[in-house]
Amino acid sequence: MGAFSFSTVAHIVSEPGAAKRLGSIAAQHFPAVRRALIVTDGGFLKTGLVDAPIASLREAGMHVSIYSDVVADPPEAVVLSAVAEARKNETDLVIGLGGGSSMDVAKLIAVLAGSDQELKTMYGIGNVKGSRLPLIQVPTTAGTGSEVTPISIVTTGATTKMGVVSPQLYADVAILDAELTVGLPPKVTAATGIDAMVHAIEAYTTKVKKNPLSDMLARQALKLLSTNIIAACEDGKNLEVRQAMLLGAMLAGQSFANAPCAAVHALAYPIGGIFHVPHGLSNSLVLPHVLRFNAPNAASLYAELADIIAPGATGSDEARTQALIDQMDQIARRTGIETQLRQVGIAESDLDRLADDAMLQTRLLTNNPREVTRNDARAIYAAAL
Ligand SMILES: [Zn+2]
Repeated sequence: MGAFSFSTVAHIVSEPGAAKRLGSIAAQHFPAVRRALIVTDGGFLKTGLVDAPIASLREAGMHVSIYSDVVADPPEAVVLSAVAEARKNETDLVIGLGGGSSMDVAKLIAVLAGSDQELKTMYGIGNVKGSRLPLIQVPTTAGTGSEVTPISIVTTGATTKMGVVSPQLYADVAILDAELTVGLPPKVTAATGIDAMVHAIEAYTTKVKKNPLSDMLARQALKLLSTNIIAACEDGKNLEVRQAMLLGAMLAGQSFANAPCAAVHALAYPIGGIFHVPHGLSNSLVLPHVLRFNAPNAASLYAELADIIAPGATGSDEARTQALIDQMDQIARRTGIETQLRQVGIAESDLDRLADDAMLQTRLLTNNPREVTRNDARAIYAAAL
């Protein structure tokens, strides 16, 4: 067995309703903090689901300020204005309360607010210097797993996405509360859930850093996600199903934080960057085609995952890999999300630009079980059109 290292968030609370106890959880872990900043988006703020967590923080004696200008695919300007807000409020505890974008911005506030390092020098792996403010993450979608990853994705320039990947970005506490996710529409539930499944699939088949812990987490994540995703789309108010989805997404996050994602994400990022397609849907659109492309090098691992996602599939590794691909395709179709690039406004004439941009995602492509050339990337997009 090869050498490996593994990191994750030290404290995890998985319990429907736990966000209502945010204040006491925060006080328990950080008795000295007095000034919390909640990082969220305007849409989630309007749901009123932020009110109880805020009240509990105040009850615990904390001053609470809110930054709610996070947008999907947050640009650098949003990160910098959020940092300014944290400094103005003399924030000593950062709380990400939202989807992946809010949690990613919260991570960067926590490392930037007390530092003179500039954001643009942090892109890449291991480039954050210094420490950070205390950080609690509370996801409101079951997908990104951002609450347990050391990764923050920022949109730089017009369409390019860059990642900050550093151990300082691991939160201190992650809180999984299904009550925050019951209002998610079925299509968002589907796309974010498939994103989480992609995290587990890519972690399990990554060329580097795959290890016994990341494998165990990926398998358990896929079991929870594949058995609950349809039910979560059909009955969004079912707390048990929603909690299982949150847990599955977090386990997948713990897995890919240590055994990184690959070509599905590399090809999905340009779709989100250029066409503003949500992250989960971008992944779902290219997933079956990347799996088919990777199959010659990854069929034995895909077959192991087919035993979890498509139980009952039999035969050769290739046959079970096909069952895995069919099952993922079925999930997308049954939940009614788009399955072709043309359905999200992408045309044949866009494929060269997509392929060029995908090749810039070297951080991800280098992990893929099969080498992806520019021509391969274009062919995968063409198949997905
Ligand atoms: Zn993802």
